[in-house]
Amino acid sequence: MKQMSYSQLMTYVRCPEHWLFRYKLGIKRQPRKVFKHGFALHETLQYHFEQKKEDGKGIQLGEAKEFFVNSFASALEDYRQELAEARPFLTREYLSKERSIRIEDLVDTGLRGLEVYFKHLNRYIDPDLVEEPFSFLARPACAGRLGLEVTGRIDLADKKGVIHELKTTRVTPNKQDIRSDAQLAIYQIGYEAVSGRAPSGISKDYIVLSKNNSKIVRFRVARPFIDKRTVLRNIATIADAIQNNIFYCIHPTESWLCSKEWCGYYKLHQEVKKLGLPAFLEKYAPPSRRYFKKSRKRV
Ligand code: SF4
Repeated sequence: MKQMSYSQLMTYVRCPEHWLFRYKLGIKRQPRKVFKHGFALHETLQYHFEQKKEDGKGIQLGEAKEFFVNSFASALEDYRQELAEARPFLTREYLSKERSIRIEDLVDTGLRGLEVYFKHLNRYIDPDLVEEPFSFLARPACAGRLGLEVTGRIDLADKKGVIHELKTTRVTPNKQDIRSDAQLAIYQIGYEAVSGRAPSGISKDYIVLSKNNSKIVRFRVARPFIDKRTVLRNIATIADAIQNNIFYCIHPTESWLCSKEWCGYYKLHQEVKKLGLPAFLEKYAPPSRRYFKKSRKRV
């Protein structure tokens, strides 16, 4: 049985070339203060939800703030180490952008975000599943081909069976069609695998972080909506594409995603364009690197 994690799948959906660098070649080059900030907020709210699931209340705002500050400080130690390792491979523009981001501002917006969450959203969330692991079969074994299993975690589902996707953002999101959100489609199948029933709804909850006007924006659908067969087929197609070395840049020319300031893989991106994939793989791929972890399960 082959296994593929949910985060690997989402990486490929967002950028196949990123998948190539990160998972096939094992190169980590995205040290960013804002990622550590998001991680610390996520850890804080996860801790709160776990407590709230136990006692119906969770932690208080003051404790959440303290937890966040400590978690961010410890994540920043990792950041410094990651930055030191990746520095020779990052562009000047990337490093200069990182330098321009002030830690005090990130702490400040994180604390304001927590205030907004506790004031406006906390009372509506009654946690049932918190960081719940799931796995499901995306494709059974057949004709000598191994089966494919997807693994992941549902961040949060409430007692009414609603999956919550809680995100922090710095830009107010537009109303968007969450029915076509690949991430939520996979969560729905994961929820069914864990609970034996379809979720009763989906809520995408954003904490919009800003220095003076942090707020909550929510997008909701009342019923589950996925075409499960299409999602499973798409997952299997991605696995086949990876197996066949199909990695490419899906972003338009001059996209900010592929800019020197934003992408830690910018230099490799230029190199793969120059050398072509076969020569690039010859240079960077360890001969024995596997595409998937193998599980002990047999199908
Ligand atoms: S440079 Fe663009 S295509 Fe390459 S990894 Fe970065 S975002 Fe993806």
